[in-house]
Amino acid sequence: MKTLNDFNFKDKRALVRVDFNVPLNDNFEVTDATRIVSAKPTIIKILEDGGSCVLMSHLGRPKGVQDEFSLRHIISKIEDILGVEVKFVGDCVGEEATEKANGLEPGEILLLENLRFHDEEKQGDVDFAKQLSQLGDIYVNDAFGTAHRAHASTTIVAQFFPEAKCFGHLLAKEIESIKKVLEDGEKPVLAVLGGAKVSSKITVIENILDKVDHLIIGGGMTFTFIKAQGGNIGDSICEDDKMELALDILRQAEAKGVKIHLPVDVVAADSFSNEAATQVVDVNQIPEGWQGLDAGPKSLEIFDQVVNNCKTILWNGPLGVFEMETFSKGTIALGDSIANSTRNGAFSLVGGGDSVAAVKQFGFEDKVSYVSTGGGAMLESLEGKTLPGIAAILD
Ligand code: AMP
Repeated sequence: MKTLNDFNFKDKRALVRVDFNVPLNDNFEVTDATRIVSAKPTIIKILEDGGSCVLMSHLGRPKGVQDEFSLRHIISKIEDILGVEVKFVGDCVGEEATEKANGLEPGEILLLENLRFHDEEKQGDVDFAKQLSQLGDIYVNDAFGTAHRAHASTTIVAQFFPEAKCFGHLLAKEIESIKKVLEDGEKPVLAVLGGAKVSSKITVIENILDKVDHLIIGGGMTFTFIKAQGGNIGDSICEDDKMELALDILRQAEAKGVKIHLPVDVVAADSFSNEAATQVVDVNQIPEGWQGLDAGPKSLEIFDQVVNNCKTILWNGPLGVFEMETFSKGTIALGDSIANSTRNGAFSLVGGGDSVAAVKQFGFEDKVSYVSTGGGAMLESLEGKTLPGIAAILD
């Protein structure tokens, strides 16, 4: 696996695929710069070697050229974070891009306009990728968030750099973290899977049953399992067509020696609202008209013990409807347990969608070992897929 440290960038121009797909407010100000901050170590390493950087990214989902999706809006934010002036070109390919890239001096940065202003980017067009490739000497992929897409700048472009391509620091760290959990995890290994639906996590569950010793299943997924086993789930969310699958997962887990922990009690509500009346009930005896929206105190005690007994922890998906304060306690308690276990030496990885939002919202970011930057890319990695953006560098 080639990383930045395998190259000296002195007098070289790096073509770096970053993920600067940051959220903007109505005034085009960056509201969360995490992705820019995450790319900084890669860019600084290249500049400190005495090289220059051509940065390329997408922003949002433009239909053709649309000014609201211009990367121009984020230049000053990038300059603030990097402490370096950022030159810009209004089209990611063409004469002007070539001229400006050729004119870069060591220590300088050129930002290309939004790659997705060209349909060829998402189509993975080879000619377009070739044009991009001519802007740099070494290709660096540091965009984990799009590594599951075979787009021109994330995958196809790599073929034009057979000997001169590598992972950036961020992407390398993502790959290492996933490996540390799924391949080299110190035992016991635990996965906590929450979130709304079994259907969106089924491939993840099937893949990790071969990797983990314990599996905590929480969130809305719980009730498909409970109903399948004959419990009364009241009005809780349930995928009736996935009940057979749930039973099959339980059977597979038993055969593989994986201990599954489902909630034993839940916070039930009389409506899907922060102001609803609530009561704690046995997970198998939720009254009609009530729905389970968070894990109950007995469940949290059991989960705490499991989490603190495990040495490797993967967390994907909240334990309840954490967006509403009334039903956020389970997710917060689980975060506390994972933080505690991490303090005592466990390796913890949080990744994929809403658990990252929860971890940030409740301030656990610095208390776990690693928070992944890629939602879809993380989920596909957990499903056991080799992501095209990663395969293209390994080739
Ligand atoms: P996912 O994107 O699959 O990780 O699902 C996250 C969503 O699951 C969050 O928006 C939660 O509000 C939701 N969720 C968690 N627990 C429940 C529950 N018991 N009932 C309904 N939705 C839930």
